[in-house]
Amino acid sequence: MDAARPRGTKMIRASKPNTAASVASDDEGGRRARRFRKPFTQQEPLPEAAVARAVEVMRSGRLHRYNTLPGQPGEAAELEQAFAQYMQLPYCLACTSCGYALHIALRSAGVSAGDPVLCNAYTLSPVPGAIDNAGGKPVFVETCEDCTVDVADLRRAALESQARYFVLSHMRGHIADMDAIVALCRELGIVLIEDCAHTMGARWRGRLSGSFGDIACFSTQTYKHMNSGEGGLLVCADPAYMRRAVLYSGSYMFYDRHPQAPPPETFVQDRLTVPNYSGRMDNLRAAVLLAQLPLLDANCRRWNALYQVLESGLARIPGIAVIERPAHEAFVGSSIQFRLTECPGAKIPEFVRACAERGVVVKWFGAEQPEGYTSRYDSWRYVTSCRPLPRTTALLAGLCDIRIPLTFDTSDCELITELIGEALGSIAG
Ligand SMILES: *Cc1c(COP(=O)(O)O)cnc(C)c1O
Repeated sequence: MDAARPRGTKMIRASKPNTAASVASDDEGGRRARRFRKPFTQQEPLPEAAVARAVEVMRSGRLHRYNTLPGQPGEAAELEQAFAQYMQLPYCLACTSCGYALHIALRSAGVSAGDPVLCNAYTLSPVPGAIDNAGGKPVFVETCEDCTVDVADLRRAALESQARYFVLSHMRGHIADMDAIVALCRELGIVLIEDCAHTMGARWRGRLSGSFGDIACFSTQTYKHMNSGEGGLLVCADPAYMRRAVLYSGSYMFYDRHPQAPPPETFVQDRLTVPNYSGRMDNLRAAVLLAQLPLLDANCRRWNALYQVLESGLARIPGIAVIERPAHEAFVGSSIQFRLTECPGAKIPEFVRACAERGVVVKWFGAEQPEGYTSRYDSWRYVTSCRPLPRTTALLAGLCDIRIPLTFDTSDCELITELIGEALGSIAG
């Protein structure tokens, strides 16, 4: 998905600020005097504790989650314990990816072939993909100007479709009015599944994102808030859903090895009827995540410090509107979105190019063809019947996005906003 390091090169130690690398004088005419030099896809190295723990697992040869010595839970089980405790929820299951976790969450909640499943129209492709994988039919819901799901349209779509499931994607970290959503789901008897790929560590009115839904799924893919390359965590408080999720994940008959699942004796009913859809996390990934979890909250604060610099810088640029965030949304600013308010759609590709020339990677959600992670709801053609979504279409037409890796510092973020201002100015004439 993103530019890989050339083969054989060493891991770039990019965690230290390197402002000298950020600015460089360019061509002699001085026209493009400044260019941002850091890659937008460079994550920090894993902490040494993660490396040490991974090496330990590799030395042991016991990488499979159920391949443990007597009395040792193994890293996958330990991760489930640690994350359940972090979330203050009784159950947690470590999986291969968030998309996989969403898929078995839907099945565990009872989705079967042809069932309508509500989801935000503004989301990432693995979300409708997970619904499709579970046999469901995605029913897209409109988006507000602040990038959150439109709760009034959610009610309409729920009544029209009679859907009994809703995957709420906190897309790019934007958290909708959770009181209104939880109340609506209760009223209409809808199972709420939260997609927290961008809200690990975020809170809404003081409560952790992922603790509102009947089930919640997190990603530990490289571009999210903890990095194991690939990985997913499913949390919930419902024993029936959790038993099925554990069995779907491919627990063989080792469900007694899941410390954050219901007691083994309660599995008798389901153990022979729920198919095995193998998607377990291994001990190696769990080991590197266990060492990252204690750093999560501090990292969220670091993201927000960078976000604030970008947000205030972008807000000062005429023709750019930043996304309003309610005071009670304690979000994690691992990416930032902004709207171009005066730039006609036809000129946005030019703006994106002008940014790229300055070393600033801006993604645009309004492009006709999906690019990278910015695909639009109408590019998921397997969804054959789609409600009209004029508000989402209008929003995405001017919506831009930049990643905020923790290898950036605040002076990088200042420079990025200046360069974006320059880029926008350069195409105005
Ligand atoms: C990344 C992402 C996912 C899926 O995560 P994977 O671990 O890559 O499957 C789901 N939803 C959103 C909004 C995401 O950004």
